[in-house]
Amino acid sequence: MFDYLIVGAGFAGSVLAERLATRSNKKVLIIDKRPHIAGNAFDHYNEEGVLVHKYGPHIFHTNSKDVFDYLSQFTEWRSYEHRVLASVDGQLVPMPINLDTINKLYGLNLTSFELEDWFESVAEQVPVIRTSEDVVVSKVGRELYEKFFRNYTRKQWGMDPSELDKSVTSRVPTRTNRDNRYFTDTYQAMPLNGFTAMFEKMLAHPNIKIMLNTDYKEIIDVIPFKEMIFTGPVDEYFDYKFGKLPYRSLDFKHETLNTETFLPTAVVNYPNEHAYTRITEFKYLTGQKHPKTSVVYEYPQADGDPYYPVPRPENAELYNKYKKLADQTPNVHFVGRLATYKYYNMDQVVAQALTLYKKLTEKTEEDKAIAEIEKIVIKGKSLNGSAIKISSKNGNH
Ligand SMILES: Cc1cc2nc3c(=O)[nH]c(=O)nc-3n(C[C@H](O)[C@H](O)[C@H](O)COP(=O)(O)OP(=O)(O)OC[C@H]3O[C@@H](n4cnc5c(N)ncnc54)[C@H](O)[C@@H]3O)c2cc1C
Repeated sequence: MFDYLIVGAGFAGSVLAERLATRSNKKVLIIDKRPHIAGNAFDHYNEEGVLVHKYGPHIFHTNSKDVFDYLSQFTEWRSYEHRVLASVDGQLVPMPINLDTINKLYGLNLTSFELEDWFESVAEQVPVIRTSEDVVVSKVGRELYEKFFRNYTRKQWGMDPSELDKSVTSRVPTRTNRDNRYFTDTYQAMPLNGFTAMFEKMLAHPNIKIMLNTDYKEIIDVIPFKEMIFTGPVDEYFDYKFGKLPYRSLDFKHETLNTETFLPTAVVNYPNEHAYTRITEFKYLTGQKHPKTSVVYEYPQADGDPYYPVPRPENAELYNKYKKLADQTPNVHFVGRLATYKYYNMDQVVAQALTLYKKLTEKTEEDKAIAEIEKIVIKGKSLNGSAIKISSKNGNH
């Protein structure tokens, strides 16, 4: 009998498998319907020998020392700061928009101070910020909104920014200096030998058994376990009883080219031209030296694997219905981006999984304490015939 069946071998499932096996000596079966571990962070050497990310570029960045220290047990790191250019008006300019973006685009020679005033002069007054369009035009004005955001968002989400909740672009990271890093987190690094190698190390414990190419429904009635950790889609778990939670998907077109480098930087965004949103060249991310290079084009689409939850109020309402059910389901713990219907970065999922592990162990400690009290009570009862009532905070056992 397994102590835990963990559905999904991405960050959420693998962190919990590792903690439960190594720290709590639990027997864990981790399964995934895909033919590999690492979930969406899966990387592999393609047929030409170039290390690529199957599900699009994954760049690790976090402000959490705890998360960074935790993952550092399973990998060495390669320091990496991500940089992105956007193709606008026939030029490649830094993204997020910074001093160089504006000077290059408009042929200006502004200083940082002057750029602040410039942004203020172009920003639109929006009394109440409700949509993604409001967020952007109130910060950088309509022209930059049209050049950088409007069409990109329409491609990415299949909707105009005016129809999308403000949370989609809740923050427009514009800079008045020349900082052209995409992220500003304290820790920015890539696993030295790739994500999959890091996951292999996490899961290499005799208490952990891995089963791939397996949907949990195939084994749930066959393999005995005490508790389940579910990191798949929450609506799927409940047989879509309230309807399907909407997601935006992507089609990844991978290509290997007979040239050492292809792009001037890791990622080029195409807000206006082409059906794809961006091209990524993996060697920038991985630091690999190779005479050929591999790139991926991302084509947003409505159908396919669930990647981005669509942040609209009616979807949040639908998710809340599933969450209520999930909260009432004994011995099943829902964690990760699909089970909580939220776009999380990798570090956030690691933090979420570590928090759940803490909760589970606190529960175990509480169980032990209750068992101890029960022993005393039973002893007491056999001595004087009266019993004390004991209640558990976790009503499910
Ligand atoms: C295109 C793209 C780019 C991204 N880039 C970044 C980035 O640069 N930096 C960053 O920090 N984050 C990035 N992310 C987010 C990152 O992918 C997630 O934070 C991370 O994958 C979440 O881990 P998870 O374990 O919750 O989910 P997943 O990695 O999706 O793992 C869930 C697993 O459950 C399995 N599963 C589902 N249903 C079943 C079932 N019925 N039976 C068995 N198994 C099942 C799935 O096959 C999957 O492997 C990106 C996401 C996307 C889509």
